[in-house]
Amino acid sequence: MKNKKIKTCLTIAGSDNSGGAGLQADLKVFSLLGVFGFSAITSITVQNSKGVKASIPVSPNILESQINAIFEDFKINAIKIGMLQTKENVEVLLNIFKNYRPKNIVLDTVLKSSSGKYLLDKNAIESFKKLIKFTAIITPNTEEAKVLTGIEISSLDDMKFACEKLLKLGAKVVYLKGGHMDFKETIVDIFFDGSKMIEVKYEKLPVKENIHGTGCVLSSAIASFLAKGENLENACLKGRMFLQNQIRNAIKLGSRYLYMPLTQQ
Ligand code: PLP
Repeated sequence: MKNKKIKTCLTIAGSDNSGGAGLQADLKVFSLLGVFGFSAITSITVQNSKGVKASIPVSPNILESQINAIFEDFKINAIKIGMLQTKENVEVLLNIFKNYRPKNIVLDTVLKSSSGKYLLDKNAIESFKKLIKFTAIITPNTEEAKVLTGIEISSLDDMKFACEKLLKLGAKVVYLKGGHMDFKETIVDIFFDGSKMIEVKYEKLPVKENIHGTGCVLSSAIASFLAKGENLENACLKGRMFLQNQIRNAIKLGSRYLYMPLTQQ
């Protein structure tokens, strides 16, 4: 039976065998938000709740073939990009997007895990910046924003300034996450589309300090809302609200909190 109403998302991301981040998390988010999820694996990581122990990138050919296999068969309403690991993988995406320009790309600018492992090789940064101009939304945290702009970020004003610089890299929207800042009770993220700058405020929840995969959940939720037809601003705001509910529902497994897809939204 054909169902024209079902929207689709593709995640191009790393595999997290512990299930809290990466494409495993993305696919759970897609299901929860009612979109059909496709995936293209960029890298196989080895991890548990104590951190990322190893990772092996897939070959560029295999990455390219996975994406082409999806594109030649299905209509994709939005794409979420996560961990890419290598310069070669970034270049695969650059080549694909030069020929085929999907509209709703959400790029989670994954550089390093919270446990300290580099998830993008340092020699990939310059090519990675070129990828940004194909995207609708980028979702850096403040550490990633610092690497991408060279700006030190220690205040809300710094965050706003960084958003202006980040937008020049070519995305339509910057959604800068404030979770790594020293905010006490309220976390402030910044949405910026070149004309409108919004302070998005959320209560800092106790588990937030020790939770895995929040960036993956946020970016795949934003992609899901774009796929369902929300505009850029609403997709970000609804995605952030979804994340807050998921953090509230997080469960402790091993030594960290993982989000648990409990509620339909
Ligand atoms: N593993 C994969 C495959 C990821 O994509 C990410 C983050 O994007 C991580 C691990 C790290 O997640 P966290 O920093 O939340 O622990």
